[in-house]
Amino acid sequence: MLPFACRSDAVLGSLTPSYYPPSLTGLRGSHPGSNTHSHARAWAGKSDWGSTTKLDNVYDLIVVGGGISGLAAAYFYQQKHGKDKKVLILDNHDDFGGHAKRNEHTIDGELRIGYGGSQSIVEPKHASKAVHALFQDIGVDTGRFNTAYNKDFYKRHNLGAVTYFNKATFGQDKIVKHPYCNYPNYIEGMIMHSKLSNDAAVQQVPLSDKGKQQLLRVLNGGLHAIDVPKEQLKDYIRANSYFDYLKNTLGVDDPAILKMARNSSLDWASSGTDVMSIAKAKSTGAMGFKPKSVYDEDNPYIYHFPDGNAGVARALVKKMVPKIAVGRNAEELVLSKFNYDELDKSSNAVRIRLNSTVVNVKHGGNPNDSSEVFVNYINDNKSHQVKGKNVVMACYNMMIPHIVSDLPAEQYAALRLQTKAPLQYSSIGLKNWRAFKEMEMGVDPFVRRKYKKIYL
Ligand SMILES: Cc1cc2nc3c(=O)[nH]c(=O)nc-3n(C[C@H](O)[C@H](O)[C@H](O)COP(=O)(O)OP(=O)(O)OC[C@H]3O[C@@H](n4cnc5c(N)ncnc54)[C@H](O)[C@@H]3O)c2cc1C
Repeated sequence: MLPFACRSDAVLGSLTPSYYPPSLTGLRGSHPGSNTHSHARAWAGKSDWGSTTKLDNVYDLIVVGGGISGLAAAYFYQQKHGKDKKVLILDNHDDFGGHAKRNEHTIDGELRIGYGGSQSIVEPKHASKAVHALFQDIGVDTGRFNTAYNKDFYKRHNLGAVTYFNKATFGQDKIVKHPYCNYPNYIEGMIMHSKLSNDAAVQQVPLSDKGKQQLLRVLNGGLHAIDVPKEQLKDYIRANSYFDYLKNTLGVDDPAILKMARNSSLDWASSGTDVMSIAKAKSTGAMGFKPKSVYDEDNPYIYHFPDGNAGVARALVKKMVPKIAVGRNAEELVLSKFNYDELDKSSNAVRIRLNSTVVNVKHGGNPNDSSEVFVNYINDNKSHQVKGKNVVMACYNMMIPHIVSDLPAEQYAALRLQTKAPLQYSSIGLKNWRAFKEMEMGVDPFVRRKYKKIYL
């Protein structure tokens, strides 16, 4: 038995007025320390968290994970069961939003707002009625992006996609513009204005003549290059390796080209193409195949706030914790500074407790009565337990088997199959972007404080 002390959580979680994670720099997604307790639990099997303070509040709902799913779950629960229902949201990070994070940088006294992970509302035209109703409730007007987004930016500056060839692999540092392709880039306005043919672009690549011929074969390749009867093609590409296709069908043996091809799907697939079938490589937009995402006229890539989907997360938080900021809708909230001190006030119906890693979730003593669930979490290296009538696990699925002790065996086994792969996005503030413009290299511009100048 763990030793328990009992107290109210009225004073827990209060943050100082200067606490403002969006302006922090460095590694921000899974920032240092954010996964210490999760790793201790999942990797080292830690279960003894020392003396545990048993908090006497009982919540109607406890949500594990303060990403968009967890925030939306809390919002829908209150909508269905009443605004007086007590909800506690626990998240291990120092900010809410999960993958949807906001970055702020002050450069030469001016605030620049950027996104730190999830950027865009994907395909809102295909979204469910529930999503559209939620957007309306929280003040996200997707129609505004049609005029608010500067669709002309890339075209006006003649910016396009490029590939950087580094000295270590290719013998020299060189930037080569992408050739023209008949399917435009999914980023609104960054449609290929390139006049380069595949051949002309490849001639600029720092490779031997033989290497250039091989690269051209990859770029001009595709399913038509595979000599298999049409009716067998589908099965063939599922059963055969992409690397065998490169080496045997297209005759590629240049290690630099194979390296480029290996890494060409990393951001979509989280693994090298050398372990993929042709079908998988094709579906992830590996080198020589159409990119995974191309411009979609029905759902153009314009539905994003300057802080990406953090704009949605913040609008949800504002709805549940009204005193957190000033702003009548998501658009006004973009420039609004959030007061994090309001997140976990005992007077709130919805409390959001950051820096709190959940390490154990279990039903109460009576296995036939699931109306009480005990949730243990670590905040500031101290162990706490809260009680909820309901719990939503909106955290990483792969963590659930490590923290929910009484999962059905089948669900446990399925969740244990989940994996996570590292993915790093870097946002860099430049005082002067002339070099990019002169090289006609497409960059995602940081949004100025007076973002209306760019967006409107
Ligand atoms: C770099 C990147 C870019 C993306 N871009 C887009 C995009 O442009 N558009 C799009 O629609 N989607 C995008 N996504 C997908 C994105 O993950 C989802 O759209 C969505 O934001 C996921 O929300 P979620 O709440 O389900 O999960 P998450 O955002 O992962 O939130 C889960 C939260 O639970 C927390 N948690 C985990 N374990 C515990 C624990 N034990 N205790 C307490 N808290 C815990 C996590 O730390 C996290 O904060 C992107 C993802 C990444 C990583």
